[in-house]
Amino acid sequence: MESNLRRLPSVDKLISDARIKESEKAYSHSTIVNLARQYLNEVRLSVSSGNPCPSFDQIIETIRARAQTLQQVGPSPVLNATGVILHTNLGRAPLSQEAIAAMHLAATGYANLELELDSGKRGSRQVHIQSLLCQATGAEAAMAVNNNASGVLLALTALAKGKEVIISRGEAVEIGGGFRLPNIIRQSGAKLVEVGTTNRTYLSDYEQAISPKTAALLKVHSSNFEMLGFTHAVPLVELVQLSHQCGLLALHDLGSGCLLDTTEFGLAYEPMVQEDIAAGVDLAFFSGDKLLGGPQAGIIIGKKELIEKLKRHSLARAIRIDKIRLAGLAATILHYLKDEATSKIPVWKMIATPLETIEKRAESWARSLNDLATAIDGESTVGGGSLPESTLPTKLVAIKGKTGSEAEKIARNLRSQQPPVIGRIDKNAVLLDPRTILPENDAILLQALSNVLLTDRGQKL
Ligand SMILES: *Cc1c(COP(=O)(O)O)cnc(C)c1O
Repeated sequence: MESNLRRLPSVDKLISDARIKESEKAYSHSTIVNLARQYLNEVRLSVSSGNPCPSFDQIIETIRARAQTLQQVGPSPVLNATGVILHTNLGRAPLSQEAIAAMHLAATGYANLELELDSGKRGSRQVHIQSLLCQATGAEAAMAVNNNASGVLLALTALAKGKEVIISRGEAVEIGGGFRLPNIIRQSGAKLVEVGTTNRTYLSDYEQAISPKTAALLKVHSSNFEMLGFTHAVPLVELVQLSHQCGLLALHDLGSGCLLDTTEFGLAYEPMVQEDIAAGVDLAFFSGDKLLGGPQAGIIIGKKELIEKLKRHSLARAIRIDKIRLAGLAATILHYLKDEATSKIPVWKMIATPLETIEKRAESWARSLNDLATAIDGESTVGGGSLPESTLPTKLVAIKGKTGSEAEKIARNLRSQQPPVIGRIDKNAVLLDPRTILPENDAILLQALSNVLLTDRGQKL
């Protein structure tokens, strides 16, 4: 082992090798020296624990490969053929052309982000979004922050720290990706008071838990699961009434932030932001990149006096939204005000795509793969913590493997394409849903499919 270690090349020897010198053209000298040093340290550890020592050439190749991967700047685009419209792992909502253009402009140069052009004085970045949000939702005031989780944290910290927040046991949930409501409440310094049982909570449960220490009643939309059967939750309107009778705040974490009526698209009902305002909530919270269809953001709407308080809180500075997403968010909300959401916002375009259109695409994909794929009936889902049990009928392209592991292999090969194609697997088949592939990407998708499934002679690899 000692002798093996002694055989390891020095950093100097490695970096004077011609192949490493070649890699150095793309990077600074110190980057290459660091890569060589880090890898040699790893090798030394591995050899010390009894593993064989790689050859000089292997060491060179590994360093070169690592240098190469540094250039693969991510996150890079993938084709989402999963049929999950808001796929959190795939970056949630793709943006409208107008939102992209606005973000491009904001990124390219300087902007009047916090400058009042009239007076030449310092302004608030919230002015760019405030009135749009108020128009779209009916709220008297609004602000945007980094994401919904941070919006909820800000409000609880500013309004309920050291006091109690009452929440139904059935709503003290984990949303996914580590967002657990009880943790956020604890983080804010407020005390969580759970009432009711997992499946049933009544107004009287809230009533009995109210104490002089209570600051707010909080309702949380159970975004990513549905309780069926023997259940009861208190309607928002009743919760608001009770809060106000007792001089408390009524807060609602809506999750998705839907501005359109999902039932018009054959989906189940998803609470709408406008209804919260009509019901008189003090503050409502939702995401920018779920059903709203914009960039990542957290939106807080509600009573002016409270929003002003949140804006002034020191935490607001720590979770503020940047100029690029602010521009994208404004452009997205404008689509709603122009009544063009279903023709411009990709998420809504996908939801609104008629089955016949999807069927045509699925059949044409299947045809171009000869008989290696068939178009079958299936279901798309909204995802992103919205409408967990509700689906849209779709046509899937099914690529059948002989076994489950063959299907896994096809799926893996599809993921190794440039850009990667992400499908889902059901039993022995890889399923691809045209609904979540933007139509302009059909050609790229078909290229990837034929790379994996067809050779020149149209045979399966
Ligand atoms: C998704 C979701 C969140 C988290 O929103 P982010 O914008 O991802 O921070 C919080 N609450 C509910 C109910 C959600 O559905």
